[in-house]
Amino acid sequence: MLTNKPILHQQIHKYLVHDKCSVYEKKGKMRKKFLPFSRPLISEEEIAAVGEVLRSGWITTGSRTAQFEKSFSSYCGCKGAVALTSATAGMHLLLSALNIGPGDEVITPAMTWVSTVNLIVLAGATPVFVDVNHDTLMTDAEMIEPLLTDNTRLIVPVHFAGAAVDMEPIYNLARERNIAVVEDAAHAAGTEYKGQKVGMQGTSIFSFHPIKNMTTGEGGMFCADDKALTGKIRTLRFHGLGVDAHDRNQQGRTPQAEVLEPGFKYNMTDIAAVLGLGQLARLDDFIARRTRLAKRYLEQLADIDEILPLTISQVTSVHAWHLFIVRLDIDRAGMDRDTFMEELKQRNIGTGLHFRAVHEQRYYRTTMPQALGTLPNTEWNSARICSLPLFPAMTMEDVDDVVTAIKEVLAR
Ligand SMILES: *Cc1c(COP(=O)(O)O)cnc(C)c1O
Repeated sequence: MLTNKPILHQQIHKYLVHDKCSVYEKKGKMRKKFLPFSRPLISEEEIAAVGEVLRSGWITTGSRTAQFEKSFSSYCGCKGAVALTSATAGMHLLLSALNIGPGDEVITPAMTWVSTVNLIVLAGATPVFVDVNHDTLMTDAEMIEPLLTDNTRLIVPVHFAGAAVDMEPIYNLARERNIAVVEDAAHAAGTEYKGQKVGMQGTSIFSFHPIKNMTTGEGGMFCADDKALTGKIRTLRFHGLGVDAHDRNQQGRTPQAEVLEPGFKYNMTDIAAVLGLGQLARLDDFIARRTRLAKRYLEQLADIDEILPLTISQVTSVHAWHLFIVRLDIDRAGMDRDTFMEELKQRNIGTGLHFRAVHEQRYYRTTMPQALGTLPNTEWNSARICSLPLFPAMTMEDVDDVVTAIKEVLAR
């Protein structure tokens, strides 16, 4: 199931040289230096490449962005890719391209980042929350089907933590009824579903926010096998002109280009794209390193009854290990999750929360109170999940420190 190729020793050494977090001294049992839950890994070569773009005279969308789009589409095998300022921008463009608005329903898990649901609401459409599997945190066709109505326009499954949603039955369900599907692939750069990269089929949106598996500072990529849709996203990305400044200046298109339809301003800069090119070249190494760290966690946590890792979906042929999420058995532990996180922080261990269910956040609690209590697996996990530190520059000792701290907190 976890088929990432092993990482070379020199490569690990390279990570360690760049990682100031790993240089720590032990004082008693507790770490002296704070271990963040995530940290991007930027190489000197990437920094130099960014410098080169800055000196080149062309810093916005240009040849580097075009090259990054090409490289990313050949990496995941998709037909078309459009580089954006964020994954959130991608979702905004898609809702706009599909003309989703008042009266339309969009099915999404509430166990996701808030951006999707915010945009559905801002478009004037109605979010319909689907529950997730208790142990993978991902939705499936069986849970989605009963929620379909004549107004359903779009389904947004979320690949979680680096594992894959079982997409085939969802696409089948949607195709029969002419409903669009977009895969939230923010966690899934490098993830393989049944032996194929996420992004290869259908429509997917990736994120390059600094905590994701690869980063461009901020950034996103829209990937689709539908040429017309990709073209529309490309147009809407840049004012609805159909061409961007680079096209106009470098590829001989005229500055007289007209607005074909009102668009947005979500184009990626070449500064970000050149960083993306460097990161993409190292993505498989990052994932291999993450996989080793995750395996260490799984081994070390196996005999701690209060800590429940996620289950890996059967259809995940490569897990990208974006996050290492555990659930705290709050009854056994005798403390709630927030206390657990705070206790770890006091022991210099950073943690994350992915995610607090959207429908439990203030705006949605207030405007959609009817959703509360209808998503048992989402709600159970929302109160218990916690993301442990996981990033390529971490060492095995860092993992052991986290586990030691967890044992200490639970022994209290
Ligand atoms: C990070 C994330 C997003 C948003 O990505 P941005 O690039 O920050 O806009 C969307 N969905 C999920 C599940 C995420 O984790």
